[in-house]
Amino acid sequence: MKLGFELVPDSCWYSNLRSILKPAMWDVVRKTAYAEANGRCMICGRPAKRLEAHERWSYDEKNAVQKLEEVVAVCHDCHSVIHIGRTQLSGDEERAIKHFMKVNGCSYSDYRRELGKANEDHARRNKVPEWSLDLAYLRRYAK
Ligand SMILES: [Zn+2]
Repeated sequence: MKLGFELVPDSCWYSNLRSILKPAMWDVVRKTAYAEANGRCMICGRPAKRLEAHERWSYDEKNAVQKLEEVVAVCHDCHSVIHIGRTQLSGDEERAIKHFMKVNGCSYSDYRRELGKANEDHARRNKVPEWSLDLAYLRRYAK
């Protein structure tokens, strides 16, 4: 699926890049993604006036390593789908479901199935007491 859910383990909620990096560094990361996107969401391709920076992580559950894979610029609707847990809490799930089905060209049952899988991954990853961060990706910004 082009657009999926990326549920961050509960223990990592406070370890987003924005809070780890110095503001100037976060700005560089964010603006690099915006420049690469060139006014279009990097997931759905739709032109967007306002883009949002999204951090993509992978999880090595055996070694408890949360690794930064990339930072992409996405539209608000894609971002709402990605963080569906938060979106559900804010009552905007309906809109996110529509966007998910449109971007992926799929049905509501596909949505439910994908969400089920994401929730399983999330529950399993929540059992890892502490994740260590791999931020090697950021070396590309070091000059
Ligand atoms: Zn989008």
